[in-house]
Order: sequence, then structure tokens, then C-alpha cells
Amino acid sequence: MAAVIDVYLPIPAWRPYSYAVPETGLPDEPQGCRVVVPVRRGWKVGVCCGVRNADPPEDVAPAREFLDRRPAIPCDLWDLGMWMSSYYMCPPGITFTTMLPGPCRPRMSAVLEPRPALASRADTVPAELKAVVELLSHGPVLRNRLERLMGVPDVERLVRWLIEQDLASWKVKVGPEPASKQMAIATLVEAPDPVRVTAAGQRILEALRASGGRLPVAELVVRARVGRSVVATLERAGLVVVEHTMEPAPSLRDSVGPPLSLTPAQRGAVDAVSEAVRNRVFQSFLLHGVTGSGKTEVYLTAAAEAIAQGQSVVCLVPEIALTAQMLARFRGRFGDRVVLVHSGLRPGERLAAWARSTVPGSLVIGPRSAVFAPVSNLGLIVVDEEHDASYKQERDPRYNGRDVAIMRAHHASCPALLGSATPSLETYQHCLSGKHLMLELPDRVDGWAMPAVSIVDMRAEPKVHGPRVFSSLLRRRMEEVIGRGEQVLLLLNRRGYARSVQCADCGFIPQCPDCDIALTFHRRDYRYVCHYCDYAEPAHDACPSCQGHRLGFGSLGTERVDEELRSLFPDKRTLRMDRDTTRSRGAHVRIIDAMEREEASVLVGTQMIAKGLDLPKVTLVGVVNADTPLQFPDFRAGERAFQLLAQVAGRAGRSAAGGEVVLQSFLVDYPALLAAARHDYQAFAREELLQRREAGYPPFASLVRLEVRGRVGDAVDAHANAIAAGLRAVRPGQGGRYLGPAPPLLPRLRGLHRRQLLVFHRARSRLHAWVRDALSRAGEHHEGTRLVVDVDPLETA
Ligand code: ADP
Ligand code: ZN
Repeated sequence: MAAVIDVYLPIPAWRPYSYAVPETGLPDEPQGCRVVVPVRRGWKVGVCCGVRNADPPEDVAPAREFLDRRPAIPCDLWDLGMWMSSYYMCPPGITFTTMLPGPCRPRMSAVLEPRPALASRADTVPAELKAVVELLSHGPVLRNRLERLMGVPDVERLVRWLIEQDLASWKVKVGPEPASKQMAIATLVEAPDPVRVTAAGQRILEALRASGGRLPVAELVVRARVGRSVVATLERAGLVVVEHTMEPAPSLRDSVGPPLSLTPAQRGAVDAVSEAVRNRVFQSFLLHGVTGSGKTEVYLTAAAEAIAQGQSVVCLVPEIALTAQMLARFRGRFGDRVVLVHSGLRPGERLAAWARSTVPGSLVIGPRSAVFAPVSNLGLIVVDEEHDASYKQERDPRYNGRDVAIMRAHHASCPALLGSATPSLETYQHCLSGKHLMLELPDRVDGWAMPAVSIVDMRAEPKVHGPRVFSSLLRRRMEEVIGRGEQVLLLLNRRGYARSVQCADCGFIPQCPDCDIALTFHRRDYRYVCHYCDYAEPAHDACPSCQGHRLGFGSLGTERVDEELRSLFPDKRTLRMDRDTTRSRGAHVRIIDAMEREEASVLVGTQMIAKGLDLPKVTLVGVVNADTPLQFPDFRAGERAFQLLAQVAGRAGRSAAGGEVVLQSFLVDYPALLAAARHDYQAFAREELLQRREAGYPPFASLVRLEVRGRVGDAVDAHANAIAAGLRAVRPGQGGRYLGPAPPLLPRLRGLHRRQLLVFHRARSRLHAWVRDALSRAGEHHEGTRLVVDVDPLETA
């Protein structure tokens, strides 16, 4: 009997596929090694799950080669991957592929190689193969090239004779590794004489001037809202020079400094975590500290303890935009032990970082995927801002980095330290039930006060045409703060959605009577619809609450805010931080850096600026539209609103200079808003948990979202209805229910129709069993549709 290797492939299949051992042999420890295997007309990289004695299946070619000598997925991560696959209901091959950094999945191409015998037998080949032999006489040929040159769709058939005669063979070429990309940087050349330049060109020159004369082209074209050709035109005119360089990723200066002497609250927290580190026991902690209470110092000190024991540390941060300041602080303390891993790195840098993280005593820092870093001897996992939505991956496997971190710590027998000023209600409930241990930092360090918050009732502001931007209070405060040479942070929430409705006079938002979520407007049939349960009512012309006629879908544009700022402070510099301005490599670092250097007075941004920024010169935070998150049709709308407002408020007053917050709102008596204004997490959580319990929402029930997508509406409906029938056919037991099928927030997305079901159960294991059973009753294969299974969804829209 021969040996067979079993391989999980990155395809939607749950079982491993079997192959004969490759000619190049086996690594010492095959499980977790990447291996190239033949799949139909090409090759795929799979992950080997084992070797056994058996005859290989007849119809399959041997695996081509192993890409690793040592497992890319070491055995602790293997177990984690198998757990994820089952928990998130995502096939193992796709799960394991996600756990490896992108550049570990090399591009592969097929090559036809001449065999030694070909040269001597060249004149025996059939006429139609002469051209192929001629090509091969110069060396191996890529299949794509061969196809092009021969002009036949199926070269495999054509050359079969050569293969059978052992005159040529197919090989797979792995890689090359994607080349490191160079970055194009534009530099301004001040022309001695005025030159005529188009309006678009003017915008480029202005953008360059505004940022010190030098910017990456990728960022420049976004800022100036022009195409690249405009830059090229200016280059030809000699007004701009473009160079291509291999600049290292920009980063902030390391904040070097000795460990601070801890406050008593910090000391208590560190002691609890350090004890678990020393004893090598699993324990999950929630470090619940108000913004500015010194949570980072606790992470640093606990990490130092683990490193002193020769262990490694993984620290998750929500977004690349936030890694910059955290990285600077970790580097300042731990120097070269710190390894940054994130997808913004170039492929070569990413692979190098991945390799460096295996060095014992490393400190790996990065966004959610860093939870898979192959560190050895893990001693502590930190999850900063554990409530953050960016920990959830919105494609398969739809895992939550925070929860995977807890499971990884559990497997590794080490503590997991979650930190937040505004914990998710799931995490908070786990503290109340004793699953997590809560460590509290109730005050800001150095006795700095929490900033005072004013809520401005926008209903009372003088009415103007179009959406109002700044209330008179916010305008006055900005003038004062900027006049004193301090800085302002302005939150402009764009999460608002065109279908959500709010009365511009009284702030009323129509709600579903059953689901307690905002209804959405469907223009076609002029109705308000609940996308959880499909409840609908005719759209009103007048606001049911105040009888006004200004029910609208208002969402303020960034342009309006920019415009207004420019007219208020014509000689001050304003920076913007949002998706558009942070697209290019290192853009967020440059923006934060410019704020730290006080080159700008105002930073306007979306949610991005609400998190983690520590800018001592910011003494005023303004929230232009505090209600927007509440309009979002999701049972977490209140939680999101509270977190956002409390977090952004926490950006003010991070120094002895103090700070102030102005929230502009139509819903001035909404509990989440009031609690945020008082910095009162407990009050918010108490109220919100009561409502969740009553409505049977998480954390009092586990939730799986099932979404069917497809091009044909009827097929989508049929599949969704089959799943609903499957759910009805099984008795879920006490505490199980489902909502839908209903159209989600965007019933059509990129040409695909969508229907969703929300399945709840009080018992997690019952929920999984119920869903699995229902899905198998509904049948695996439905023509023309695709099923998305989202376990613990954060977005239920
Ligand atoms: P959080 O993450 O809780 O919002 P940070 O960790 O950013 O708070 O700390 C806020 C500020 O307080 C930082 O500038 C930090 O250097 C400072 N700080 C933290 N701990 C101490 C301490 N024990 N003594 C003095 N300053 C501290
Ligand atoms: Zn409803």
C-alpha cells in the first residue's frame, strides 16, 4: 500500500481531498504545510491535514509539491482553525487560507517542459505538433502563451501525445512573489512666472502647497479630485516632479520613555493579569476604563511581564489608522521585539513580519488577522477597543477577532485582556455572569476631568434652507478654541443611510412595532418596511409625531462642512480623515502627524477619528450629527450611538488644558445620548440590557444570520423559503425563533437580489444544531443562488 496525503482546499467543500505523495517528498510534519495540488485545469494551494497508508484514488494526479518545510499553520493554530471552521460554519480549507497572510497564496501558472528525449525524437512527432516542438526547443513555455500562440482553446488535448510519449510534461510554476510596488511621489516646482493652468491643475497645485509641497500621487489625485492624467500634464509643463521610490512605510516617531509609575487602579489591573501570565492559566479580563484612563499603560506593563517570562504577546488593535500611535508606544518600550503585521504592508514586508513573529519573546501588533500570527509560546493576548466592529470579518469565514483571540488564549492557557471604555454588551454581560473578570479604571490619569458635554437641540436652531451644519454654540466654541491656538475635532457621521428616515422638525424616526428597529423607506411601493420581520406600513406624508412635513433622508455631505469651515476660518488649515483621504499607504499617519505637529486647527472625520486618537491639543470635539447612528435599522443602533459618542467625546481634554464636547441632535432626550453626555456607561448598559432581554436579542440569545443572494429574484425567494421551511420542520425547543425571510437593508446589491433570515436561540449549541439541520433539509444545492452564513453577525442589515 502507498501513502496518501489529505488536503483541505480553499473551496466550499467540507471534506479533504486525497492525492499521491509528490515526487519531491514529504516534509517532516506534513499537517499544516501548504501543498500544491492539481485541480481540474490548474493547480491550487491547499493545506495538508495528514498522511495515511492507503492507495491513492485512481483518477487523480499526485500532488505537485509542498511549499513549506515546517507547518505554515502550526499545531496550536490548526486546532484554532478547526474550531473556527465548525463555529463559524465555514469549510476548513477556506478558514485555513484566511489564517495565512495573502502573499502565502502564491500565483501559479502551468508550464509545458521539454523532456530529455524530445531533442532526439523531434522528427517523429505528428505534423500538427511541429510548432510546439519548435517552441519547446527554446525551453519551457507557459500554458497561457502556448494557448495564444497556437490559437487553440484546448492545448492540453493538442499536446497529449507528447506527454504520453514522455517527450514533455506539465509543471506548475509557483510565484514569483508579487514584486514590491514602488510609490509615485509628486513634488511641487514653484514656477518663476505665472503659467496658465486648468482648474483641475490648480486644484493639484493647491493640494500640494497645502501639504508642504510633497504628496504621494495616489493621495494627491483623491484630495484634488482629479485624474492621474492631470498630474502628468503638470509634469510635462514642469510644474510638478514625479519620482518613483521605495519609501518605507511611514510611521510616527517612537514614544520612548521609562514605564510610568502606575496609578493604584492601573496597579490592581496589572497585578491581576500578571498573576495569570505567571501561572500560565487562561482567564479572560475586561479592562473597563474611561477614555484617557491609561489602559495602554496596563497593556504595556502586562506585556512586559509576559516577555520577561520568555513568552510572546499578541496585541490586536481595531484599525490600521489606530496602529500608528499604539505602535509608537510599544516600540518606545520594547524596541525591535515589536512586529507590526497588517495588510497595508507590501507582500515582502508581510512575509518578513510573519516570519519574525515566530521569534520567542516577540510582541505582535496588528488588526484582526494578527490573531493568527504564528508566535511561539504565547503568554498574553490583548484586544484593544474590544467592542470595535472592525474585529468582525465581513466575508467568509465571518469570524470576530476578539472571540477568536479569547479561544486562542484558552487553547494556549494564557490570559486574554480585552480593553474598552465602551464595552460591547456581549462582553459586559459576560462580566456580569462571571465569565470575564472585570478590571476597572474609573478615572482619567492625573485627575484630568472628563470633558463637559453640551447637547444642542437642533430643533430650536433657526431654520435655514438645506441641512444646518453648525449650531451657534458649536460655532462660538470653535472660534474660541481656534483663537487660543488649540485644536478641534469634528465628527461627521456618514453611516447614515439614504433609506432611513427622520423628521427634520422633531427628530422622529419611524420604528417597527415588533422589532424595535428603525423602518426603512421603499420608494417603489411607497412604504416603510422592517427588514427583520417584513412588517410594512404606508409611508406618511406628515410626521406622525409633530404633523410637520419635513420627514427626510437628510445626510450632510462632507463638502458642506468643508465649505462652511473655509468661510468661518479662511486662514486656518483643516484636515480630513475618511475613506477617501486615507486610501493611500501611510496617509493616516501623515494626517495624525500633521495634527501632532499642530500644522492644522481642525480635523474633520468619520468614525475613524472617534477611536483611540490621543491628541493633547484637542480641547473641543463637535459632533455635527449625533443622531445618525440611531437611524440605522439595527437592534444595536443605540449601542453604536453610545459607543461612538462616548468615544469621540473621549478625544477631548486629554491634557491639563481640559476639554469640551458639543453634540448636535434632534433627539435630545434619547437615553443613549444622555448617558453618553454624562459619560455614564453603567446607566446606558443597564437600560439597554433590559430592552435586549425583553426583545430576546443578543446577548440574551445567540444569533445566526442567513442570507441568500442571486441574480434571479424568484430563485432567491425559493431558496430562502426552503430554508424557512427547514427551520419550521425542526423543533428548536424553548427559546428558539426566527425572523424573515425579509429583504435586507439593501435588497439588491451589485445586481444580486438578497433575502435574509435571523435565527435566534437562547442556547448556543441548540442554535447551531437547528441551523445545520434546517440547511441540510433545505438542500445544499440551489441553482443560481448563494448562501451566506453569518454566525454572531454585527450587521443585521
Ligand atoms: P486610554 O487608552 O485609556 O484612553 P491612554 O493609555 O491613552 O488612555 O492614556 C492617556 C494618557 O495618560 C497618555 O498620554 C498616557 O501617557 C498617560 N498616562 C497613562 N498612565 C499614566 C500614569 N500612570 N501616569 C502618568 N500618565 C499616564
Ligand atoms: Zn419588525
